[in-house]
Amino acid sequence: MLPHWVLPLMPISCGLNNDLIRVGIVLPEDRIQKLTLSWAADLSVHGNIPGIENVHSLELSVDSGQIQISGLADPHSQAEVIIGCSDGIESLKTGYGIRIEPVIAGRGFHWEKQIIVDLPGELKISIEGKYLKLINSVNIEAYVACVATSEMGSEAPEALLAAQTVVARCWSLALAEAKHLSEGFDVCNDDCCQRYQGTSFLTDHSLKAALDTRGEVLTYNSEVIDARYSKNCGGMVEDYQTVWGGKKVPYLIPLWDGPEQRAGQAVDDLDDLWNYDQAYCSSKRFESVNLAGMLGKVDVSGSYYRWEESISKTTILENLKKYTGLTWRSLDGIRIMERGASSRIKYLFLLGVDADGQDAEQKVISEYGIRRMFSKSFLYSSAFIIKNEKTLQNDDEVVLKGVGWGHGVGLCQMGALGMALNKIGYKEILSHYYPGTTFSHL
Ligand SMILES: [Zn+2]
Ligand SMILES: [Zn+2]
Repeated sequence: MLPHWVLPLMPISCGLNNDLIRVGIVLPEDRIQKLTLSWAADLSVHGNIPGIENVHSLELSVDSGQIQISGLADPHSQAEVIIGCSDGIESLKTGYGIRIEPVIAGRGFHWEKQIIVDLPGELKISIEGKYLKLINSVNIEAYVACVATSEMGSEAPEALLAAQTVVARCWSLALAEAKHLSEGFDVCNDDCCQRYQGTSFLTDHSLKAALDTRGEVLTYNSEVIDARYSKNCGGMVEDYQTVWGGKKVPYLIPLWDGPEQRAGQAVDDLDDLWNYDQAYCSSKRFESVNLAGMLGKVDVSGSYYRWEESISKTTILENLKKYTGLTWRSLDGIRIMERGASSRIKYLFLLGVDADGQDAEQKVISEYGIRRMFSKSFLYSSAFIIKNEKTLQNDDEVVLKGVGWGHGVGLCQMGALGMALNKIGYKEILSHYYPGTTFSHL
């Protein structure tokens, strides 16, 4: 047997091969042509703007293909603006960094709004089309500290913040989705990737969670795991393949999100799932807590564990036209074909009458495709039944009775909150949602 000091150490591999992550903050699709940048008098900033050391705010606007900079003794235009400050995790505190106004949060969702963010690290501002584009290159540890409190409320228990920090670090390092590489950055600042609103909501205990778990990741076969997560699984965690297809991911598998694993899958009996209230993410667990302070701040209304939504057939037909180009005279039925473990629908058929008066059917595939088809913005989840199925042909509305919010794969954020409120530590929380994985240090 070899002495342990000559045992080969397997290096940990991941998708992001840099300490810095590039975050898209202002995107051309936001159609922003004017930005205000400001910072505290004692913040040391650097950049490519002559005279920047004499000011604490700037206004940038698009002018004839250049960025017009006002606020300086000598206003002028540049093709690109670079400005930055330290992003060491030790220098972070609430409101630290360069303030950007306005930034879009909840891009494309019903909670979309303009916010102000304070960003550590370097900002690169350029013009794409007629609009401004701002990319923030920031140290990964500072980034995940900010993500934890942007995704969760700052009053969240320490174990939840620690779990969320480790998960955010793994997801960013794995960079398995890599949705934005062609746009020149690694991740966006919003729910499409991970919500990142800079240092605005940082607190002492969220920073402590980041420092205490610094460099800590979960691995599987010496690779940083692709740590998917969503807001509320609805009682059963979903399988990776249900949502994204492709190869099986051995640690993103169906699980009952409760203290005990039960027989079967949620889909075996939807009524049973509806009545199941032992889940860590069940609303029953949050009756006496200030949920608004523990969840992210932009979306605290509504019930996510169990919900009911009505949508008019007219809206569904408008969506059908928007997403497929088809114009139908009527929608007469919905045939649900296949569900995943948590009862999330994999695909279904819309049945109706087309523009020529012929019977028609249209397949709607994927969790994402279904959620946007059955909502004016985006439905909570694809785990639903049609309550008025029997009378649907004559009704004007489709009534959906559903469970959960989000894709339901991997860590359930509300379930992790339920566990943390039950005094369960972050390692146990993470081991519950990502079975078979190992804790490692980078
Ligand atoms: Zn994104
Ligand atoms: Zn859950």
